[in-house]
Amino acid sequence: MTVTADRATSELGSLLLSRYEETAERYQTQLHTAVVLRRDGRELGDIADEGTMAADVEQQDMLTASLHEQLVRMEEALRRYEDGSLGTCERCGGQIPEGRLEIMPWATHCVPCQAAADKHR
Ligand SMILES: [Zn+2]
Repeated sequence: MTVTADRATSELGSLLLSRYEETAERYQTQLHTAVVLRRDGRELGDIADEGTMAADVEQQDMLTASLHEQLVRMEEALRRYEDGSLGTCERCGGQIPEGRLEIMPWATHCVPCQAAADKHR
């Protein structure tokens, strides 16, 4: 039914938007944490274990990078949602199952196409 599909799509849109905002917020917090850790790390240099501090900074950088990646994916998904291509498989043009989109709103391929793409990677 078209009505149901439209409703599902708009629900997905708001889900996407709230996830995006949540991720953006986490990213900002993470950026701040990383900066503070670096600054405090320098200030506390003589008392803090330098090895531990370096590992912490590295871990924070990884976290920052992964949040940024999520944010970029969310932005792409939002763009796709706005131009109406969200939920359409880029490879076969088929519909990506709603359940998959709820878990991975940025999915650009349906399950079989993703599996095929992964295999050829
Ligand atoms: Zn496909």
